[in-house]
Amino acid sequence: MVRIKMFDVAPYEIDAIKNWSAEHQVEVDYESNPLTMDNIEQVKGYDGLSLSHNGPFNPEIYSKLESYGIKQIAQRSAGFDMYDLEEAKAHNLIITTVPSYSPSSIAEYAVTGALYFVRQLPLIKQRMENHNFVWDAPLISRPVKDLTVAIIGVGRIGSISAQLFSNFGCKVVGYDIENKPKLENIVEFKDSLEEAIAQADIVSLHVPGNKETYHMFNQATFNQLKDGVIFVNCARGMVVETQALLDALNSGKVAGAVIDTYENEAQYFRRDFSNKEVQDETLLELIERNDVLASPHIAFFTHEAVKNLAEGGLNSTMEVLETGDAQTRVN
Ligand code: NAD
Repeated sequence: MVRIKMFDVAPYEIDAIKNWSAEHQVEVDYESNPLTMDNIEQVKGYDGLSLSHNGPFNPEIYSKLESYGIKQIAQRSAGFDMYDLEEAKAHNLIITTVPSYSPSSIAEYAVTGALYFVRQLPLIKQRMENHNFVWDAPLISRPVKDLTVAIIGVGRIGSISAQLFSNFGCKVVGYDIENKPKLENIVEFKDSLEEAIAQADIVSLHVPGNKETYHMFNQATFNQLKDGVIFVNCARGMVVETQALLDALNSGKVAGAVIDTYENEAQYFRRDFSNKEVQDETLLELIERNDVLASPHIAFFTHEAVKNLAEGGLNSTMEVLETGDAQTRVN
């Protein structure tokens, strides 16, 4: 029987893992710890390996895994920047990912977050808590259907976000480096980022994080927005220069921001700091502001996504073991 070892397994993944194991007649052993040089001996005797690694690796891990006869690492996330792909390849390790596990979950979160600010929900909640039941000008909303939404990056998640906003009756404009002819009936594509954001009431980011998109939203970009824009980043933290966003919130360019990903999130997100001090002043400011809805990279977090991530890691492992390659290979 094929044997797979999984690390970084969270309690909420266990049902999906057990069901997959029974269905495929494959032995799957799992544990919550990350794979390190201290526990790597545990991989001995297994055929396949799946991780949900978060953060840098000791580079000696690759040669050690090769010496145990391991042929692959199935990462249970879309991102793979934690791996040294060349080093892995040099040690005959195929790295796979789960590139798409529930794009509608992230799109729904982006739209929900935007509507939270459009319909003044934080202010309404605050007024109710103060027992202030007055109707006055700051509470008046714009109807969602009258708004123009700019979708930046119209791929898997961006296209579903565009569809959802379009269902509300919004005008949707888009910017993408690739042509997307299939979406032209719902998205009015612009030739530049500047043109896409010029008239937008809501800007929602769905580009990947890479050298080209690093600080795509900086002081200059925020200055090109209309006043009072709702800004959503459920993509990658590095796409937004956070200080420039805070300045844009202070100046009124941005009226509300949904920040699910933050450029310096690695040290904090997915960890419990309720009894520890958060020392990142910028993160603290994002959390404390009423005009920011900050969350710990959690837009994807639905039962569907959790199941698809666990199964995706195990399916990719089997694909490599059975065929020597995988569709989701990244090196
Ligand atoms: P995708 O590859 O399907 O779509 C990305 C789109 O961006 C593509 O159409 C691509 O052509 C376009 N693009 C790339 N570079 C661009 C640039 N410089 N300017 C304009 N457009 C550009 O990716 P996806 O699966 O839709 O993921 C989108 C983002 O969501 C990624 O950053 C991903 O990491 C992030 N994500 C977030 C969560 C979460 O929980 N917050 C979960 C999964 C994915």
